[in-house]
Amino acid sequence: MTDHDAEPYDLAVVGAGPAGLAAAGVAARAGLRVALLDAGPRIGGQYLRRPARPDPPPRGAPAAMLARLRDALGDARVLLGHRVWAVEPGPDGDGFAVHCLTGREERARTIVATRLLIATGAYDRVLPFPGWDLPGVMTAGGVQALLKGDLVVAGRRVVVAGTGPFLLPVAASLAAAGTTVAGVFEAGGRLALAPQALVRPGKAVEALGYGCRLLRHRVPYKGGRAVVAAHGDGGGLTHVTVAKVDAHWRPRPGGHETVECDTLAVGYGFTPQLDLPAQLGCAMAADAVGGPVVRVDRRMRTSVAGVYAAGETTGVGGADLAEIEGVIAGRAVVADTMDMPAAGASMDIRVRVRRLRLAGFARALLRAYPVRDGWMSWLRDDTLVCRCEEVPYGRLKEARDLGASDARSIKLLARPGMGRCQGRICGEAVARLAGAGPAPLRRPIAQPVRLGDLAEMDERTPDDDT
Ligand SMILES: Cc1cc2nc3c(=O)[nH]c(=O)nc-3n(C[C@H](O)[C@H](O)[C@H](O)COP(=O)(O)OP(=O)(O)OC[C@H]3O[C@@H](n4cnc5c(N)ncnc54)[C@H](O)[C@@H]3O)c2cc1C
Repeated sequence: MTDHDAEPYDLAVVGAGPAGLAAAGVAARAGLRVALLDAGPRIGGQYLRRPARPDPPPRGAPAAMLARLRDALGDARVLLGHRVWAVEPGPDGDGFAVHCLTGREERARTIVATRLLIATGAYDRVLPFPGWDLPGVMTAGGVQALLKGDLVVAGRRVVVAGTGPFLLPVAASLAAAGTTVAGVFEAGGRLALAPQALVRPGKAVEALGYGCRLLRHRVPYKGGRAVVAAHGDGGGLTHVTVAKVDAHWRPRPGGHETVECDTLAVGYGFTPQLDLPAQLGCAMAADAVGGPVVRVDRRMRTSVAGVYAAGETTGVGGADLAEIEGVIAGRAVVADTMDMPAAGASMDIRVRVRRLRLAGFARALLRAYPVRDGWMSWLRDDTLVCRCEEVPYGRLKEARDLGASDARSIKLLARPGMGRCQGRICGEAVARLAGAGPAPLRRPIAQPVRLGDLAEMDERTPDDDT
């Protein structure tokens, strides 16, 4: 039985990370009725994740940011443990219906709001390689989330690999937690970060701090190297093959080494979580390296009237940028609700300048750590590309030989992306293997849901891409 909240809210915010928290606080303090929903058990999202028990003493920049955002939430109604699986225009085209599943029993609940802000963040970008399906191979974000949220170290001897500045805090936290970090292997150049650091000296100091921690724990950091294969026995991962790679990430002849480890934390940056804005038909744009993001105007309004987006759904850029975008979106919602366009237009110039500065830095970072096509040369015919449906690379090549020239045709012939994750993990790799850029898939259902709950929804015929 679906539980409908009687009174519509002025604003429903999906995602209680830095962006959603900031927006909900601004709107609630201006007197709007705000519902803030998150699938997780605590507010904070990814960057501000912390263990439930014991509650750690507030320390450092993330704790200060969390305290500030929590204290500023005002009367916003916080609905944790609410997994939003669909959003659609409300009854009679008025506002929006936000369909969630909540509690252990996964009770269906629908929240109705006049305006909607989507701040669902991002998830790890994954590339396939031989052995990536072995137990012990994890995403860098997953390893970090386990450590921060559950105080669990993923393994005893860990290799950290991939590309991007996020590898540094992951390796530094693992080393500080007592794990042996056998090496950090950055596929891009070692100094990719250096020119960008000059633009934000604070970030240079942060990176230096991670570097010192790695030095103290004698963790080797090597650029121009990638984990091209993982190997194991019945018990899981035992070692990885690390190759020296050229500027395109193709292995250089003879430049291979074997590194023993029981865990591999691998990450190639982040991909914005776009299911909900895609459901509503929000227009998309390309980020600095061609990845899909929600298109927003200067006030974080999407192309669909009444829908706003903030944080990493509009481009991966870190917690500070997510927070400032949340502030701008919250103020825009207030101005639009109170029908005061002038208030929105004259938004604090300092806030706008700060956003521009942070967004510029984020773009520079994305350009400094692009994913290069050479990773495709790491694949063998038997390397699984889609783990849910167990589709090996060889079957994708067969589909291409049969004439499939785009990701959708390959999907129809070879079935990658047809399993439980619906292409969230393999979708980008399949698109790149098809020679196309990554594009957001339109999924009418963002989270697994029971047929009974689906049957209770009003009849509608969403576009099904599967
Ligand atoms: C796994 C992971 C770990 C990370 N760890 C760090 C780190 O340690 N340090 C760092 O600087 N950066 C980290 N990042 C980067 C981080 O995402 C950003 O810097 C920052 O948290 C972005 O803020 P945000 O508000 O845009 O999104 P997030 O902080 O990601 O918050 C989004 C929120 O939306 C919720 N959500 C998503 N979909 C739904 C749905 N359908 N229904 C209900 N709720 C939903 C999520 O539960 C989450 O709480 C990590 C990213 C990931 C993916």
